[in-house]
Amino acid sequence: MAAPLDVLVVGAGPTGLALAAQLRAYGASFRIVDRSVDRVRESRALAIQPRTLEALTPFGVTGELMGRGNPAIEVRMHLPRHVVQLPLFDIGLADTAYPFLLFLSQAETESVLSEHLLDQDVDVERGTELVHLERTGAFVTCRLRREGGVEEAVEATYVVGCDGAHSTVRAQAGIGFEGYAYPQTFLLADLEVDGLEPGAVHAYMAGAGVLFFFPLGSPATWRMLTMRPPRAPDTPVDLGLLQEITDQYAGVRLALRDPVWMTDFRLHNRGAARYRSGPFFLAGDAAHIHSPAGAQGMNTGIQDALNLGWKLALVSRGRAPEEWLGTYEAERAPVGRSVLRFTDKAFTIATSSNPVIRFARTRLAPRLAPLALWATVPRRLLFRTVSELGIHYRHSPATTAGPLSPRRGPRAGDRLPDLPRGLQARTSGPGWHLLLSGPPALWGDERLVSLLDGRNDLVNVHRLGDESPWTTVTHGLVRPDGHLGYAARGAHLEGLRAYLDRWLPAEHR
Ligand SMILES: Cc1cc2nc3c(=O)[nH]c(=O)nc-3n(C[C@H](O)[C@H](O)[C@H](O)COP(=O)(O)OP(=O)(O)OC[C@H]3O[C@@H](n4cnc5c(N)ncnc54)[C@H](O)[C@@H]3O)c2cc1C
Repeated sequence: MAAPLDVLVVGAGPTGLALAAQLRAYGASFRIVDRSVDRVRESRALAIQPRTLEALTPFGVTGELMGRGNPAIEVRMHLPRHVVQLPLFDIGLADTAYPFLLFLSQAETESVLSEHLLDQDVDVERGTELVHLERTGAFVTCRLRREGGVEEAVEATYVVGCDGAHSTVRAQAGIGFEGYAYPQTFLLADLEVDGLEPGAVHAYMAGAGVLFFFPLGSPATWRMLTMRPPRAPDTPVDLGLLQEITDQYAGVRLALRDPVWMTDFRLHNRGAARYRSGPFFLAGDAAHIHSPAGAQGMNTGIQDALNLGWKLALVSRGRAPEEWLGTYEAERAPVGRSVLRFTDKAFTIATSSNPVIRFARTRLAPRLAPLALWATVPRRLLFRTVSELGIHYRHSPATTAGPLSPRRGPRAGDRLPDLPRGLQARTSGPGWHLLLSGPPALWGDERLVSLLDGRNDLVNVHRLGDESPWTTVTHGLVRPDGHLGYAARGAHLEGLRAYLDRWLPAEHR
């Protein structure tokens, strides 16, 4: 048998591809396998959130995603008598370079990530299924079956299940997947629509539910999404049925044509009981599935991966303590739970036949929608949540606030904002980034030599001067995933030294 791998990545959907990119960047030995012979060619997840665009910046793929995608900045709510235009992400997103929802089909997103891996000489082994896992001493023996039935045994220290809703890793690790299925069936189509204003999301509100058209761009201009009417026959989706539903909801003539993909599906709301069991980890749909409300699924999966990859790599290389691996569940399981709650609420409002919610959707919404423009506080909160920019790890065991917290600006556990603009690009290189704010003379080399001795290769130092997110003398340590592990006001470095000694010990000790 070949030498054991650090990590076996099971599944090459968006989550597995992102994980592989980060394992590569941080020098782990790994393989990535997927039982499908080809990557996804259907649109599936149709939008990338601002935080995901930021998180993918270190791999140099964000420009390519933007070039292929379609930013939308407005929702048009079509109500019985009028249309309300609601700006999307117009408030609360000043600290990102990507203040929009980028519409891009999952097939394109996977294509960009796959091309990146090819450039990095990572071979995505398709047509290779994980069939069995067994713990043998310090390693896991993983049985892989290739097309044609040839089997191979591979040893790995860690196995990450990025293998979707029906995860084999989850089942073999004995991790539960609790939740429920929604009773409704959904209809989805990528197609052309005559009569729709381009560049916006259109939502047609009715007693029966909501009909959405999203500006997908490619492989078709529009993604249509709605519920199958309760009394409609359970026949395969066709253009006639979709046109009939559109006519009922829209009131005006919208002509549907040239469908590229039409399907129906049931939705679930389920979360893994644990994100880790010994050497087994779960990420993406293997850990959480929910309704597509708010375009959170693929985004949360990619961000799970980018929380985990560098931890696995640094621990495997002996550059960080094993304790880091426990922080994955501590940091990501609360995010997964809050996505399940949020999408469930949004889904209920959009689909419920309960008379009160129906009344709110059809009668109250028309009156309240224009007021939403004035409700800046809830809109800001909503946009920070949906964009995933509000995710923080303040309560993580690996987050330490110094003796004096920064008065303003990001705190320990927060994502480093892109404010002043360019700060994220400056800190997007591999490794950790020590940010030193205040007069550069305060931060002479002599103060840093012993602090960084033995970890110089992993920590980049930035004397920010006036180009700082903080207004006072402050120092902060940014982790490889762009979150501050440590932040403290003032120039005393003892707290930071203790943090580094615990979480990033010097190599020669
Ligand atoms: C019809 C449809 C519509 C959707 N619409 C939306 C939407 O509008 N918005 C949204 O956010 N999300 C949507 N999604 C969900 C979105 O596609 C997922 O959230 C996303 O694909 C999750 O990525 P993942 O990498 O975690 O899992 P997946 O994309 O499911 O990838 C898992 C991979 O693991 C592989 N695999 C499974 N078992 C094994 C095994 N034993 N060995 C080897 N490989 C294995 C599979 O072949 C697959 O390639 C939709 C999904 C579907 C099916």
